[in-house]
Amino acid sequence: MTKRSCEFKTEVSQLLNLMINSLYSNRDIFLRELVANAADAIDKAHFESLTAPEQAREWKIAISVDKEKKILTVTDNGIGMTEEEVEENIGTIAKSGTKAFLKMLEEKGTGAADMPEMIGQFGVGFYSAFMVASRVELRTKRSGSDAPAVCWSSTGEGSYDIESCDKADPGTEVRLFLKDDAEMYLESWKLESIIRKYSDYIAYPITVPEVKVGEDKKETVTEKVVNSQKAIWLRKPSEITEDEYRSFYSHISNFSGTTYLKPIHVSAEGASEFKALLFLPKEAPFNLLMPDIQKKGLQLYVKRVFITDECKALLPDYLRFVCGVVDSSDLPLNVSREILQDNPHIAKIEKTITAKILGELKKLIENDRENYAKFFDEFGRILKEGLHTDFTNGEKLKDLVLYGSMNTPAEKKITLGEYVDAMPESQKEIYYITGDKRESLESNPSLEYFRKQGFDVLFMTDPIDEWVMQSLNQYRKKNFVSVTKDGLELDGAADAVKAAQEKFGKLLEFLKKEFEGRVSEVRFSVRLTESPCCLITEGGALPPHMERLFRAMHQAIPESKRILELNPEHPLIPALNALLESAEEADLKKYADILWDQALLSEGSPLKDTAAFVKNVTELMLKGLAPKK
Ligand code: ADP
Repeated sequence: MTKRSCEFKTEVSQLLNLMINSLYSNRDIFLRELVANAADAIDKAHFESLTAPEQAREWKIAISVDKEKKILTVTDNGIGMTEEEVEENIGTIAKSGTKAFLKMLEEKGTGAADMPEMIGQFGVGFYSAFMVASRVELRTKRSGSDAPAVCWSSTGEGSYDIESCDKADPGTEVRLFLKDDAEMYLESWKLESIIRKYSDYIAYPITVPEVKVGEDKKETVTEKVVNSQKAIWLRKPSEITEDEYRSFYSHISNFSGTTYLKPIHVSAEGASEFKALLFLPKEAPFNLLMPDIQKKGLQLYVKRVFITDECKALLPDYLRFVCGVVDSSDLPLNVSREILQDNPHIAKIEKTITAKILGELKKLIENDRENYAKFFDEFGRILKEGLHTDFTNGEKLKDLVLYGSMNTPAEKKITLGEYVDAMPESQKEIYYITGDKRESLESNPSLEYFRKQGFDVLFMTDPIDEWVMQSLNQYRKKNFVSVTKDGLELDGAADAVKAAQEKFGKLLEFLKKEFEGRVSEVRFSVRLTESPCCLITEGGALPPHMERLFRAMHQAIPESKRILELNPEHPLIPALNALLESAEEADLKKYADILWDQALLSEGSPLKDTAAFVKNVTELMLKGLAPKK
């Protein structure tokens, strides 16, 4: 292959520019990123060698320096890359990560203190080399392939060169031509301290040069292993420092710009033997819902050999925010990734760690409510999916959800247990209302009856709540009942409704005719105390905010007919009833329309025809204000 020069994609250039000019606060991490790439590459080669033993070799990562030329080299004997792979992984960066990273930089500004920490989160670690190097050269040969070795090089200014080169051994060598102000990275003590800090647990030896002066005063350079290589998940929790947890978390986490809330060690013996170190994250990355971020699961090792981080079966979907390592002693080393999906050992592990995680969450909600509440704000939406999907753990999950409620200050949330404990004796069911935000729920007229009775109502403002409620049914033998749905049993309702029908029968008939086709029913109810009317939803139908949500996602949803309920205690009702005798038909129609629009407004729904509403109100105001004849 002859030498080719290629332009970086625009985003890469922008990124490099930022790397070089703005991200100076912790340049040490460039080494962590390169070592992590080297370790990943060895993981992959190691895994391939399980079925191709001739490829097994003594795995290692060597860091060497040329003090005169100011070159720092990180060498691994891992998987290496073909030319296409170099182009794809290093050159063009078709990855979504780069774009997302730049967008975040735009939003947060480049001065953010946690910036270097965020580099890893976006899969742009390799480029951090340009923080310390004015030129980077990568020479690589793909393991187990005849493809020629490739040399990629760049000064990080808009373009890179790529050509074939001589390299006999499989693996990758990254050479950094250090900038003048980065010469400290030629010193072994400096390299050693960075490796110890960030990469101690890496399972392969990492060496730095050690200079020894012999008796003949001659210097000899040897390789000194500086990492303990001790898999952190196999160590005693009491002997692991917070620093070690932190650096391991940032290595393993899918969202490494963040910190963890709690490490969880699991050690299972007997039928299925494994050890796990899992982390509850503290905060969600800003791109939690990006599909890329969710693709990776727990890292699965078998007897300390990395197998995969794409074994979905290890963890139920609703716990996908948990990250960590599972190391099994029972699975065969040459297990294929396909077999894993349907493996009884994996199923056992999943069961054990799910129970352990839920147990830890329970401890947290009981002992450290403040942190749990913050955690739930970040990840509750995902956790709640379990209420719908995991029936075995359903009861445990019910104790882990938090909701706002009518009687709870806006900044606080309560558990279902706390709700039930506070129920007055006369209350038999758990009441809830769904909607898109607290503010619009608070003024929903459907709450009036419950407020008067002294019953609390749970506020469910996550879009997922509506879906979850379909399977929630009961908590401590009490039914969940939506206050905006048909079929509520309210105290004294039957008599009051009967009396109202007798008294205001004419109005009811008029409105029924008027709203024919628009509603499925018009009726009196005791649901309201202050408002004249409200709209409720039929039992199985989607509430209006969900219909809007689905439409916003371009899903065809038929508009369900609602029920209009009237408050016979409201002075407007007898007044309208009396008007039926005297007013003109056209005016009556306007009153009816305004009534309808009021019901929509008070539940936070948009009006079908705002202009008509304004016109109606204006006309009636004018009539009211006109001097009486
Ligand atoms: P990330 O490692 O987060 O994916 P990087 O920018 O650090 O992002 O690396 C991009 C890709 O380049 C890696 O995913 C990997 O495929 C490839 N790569 C980087 N370094 C090496 C290496 N030492 N050996 C083999 N492949 C590598």
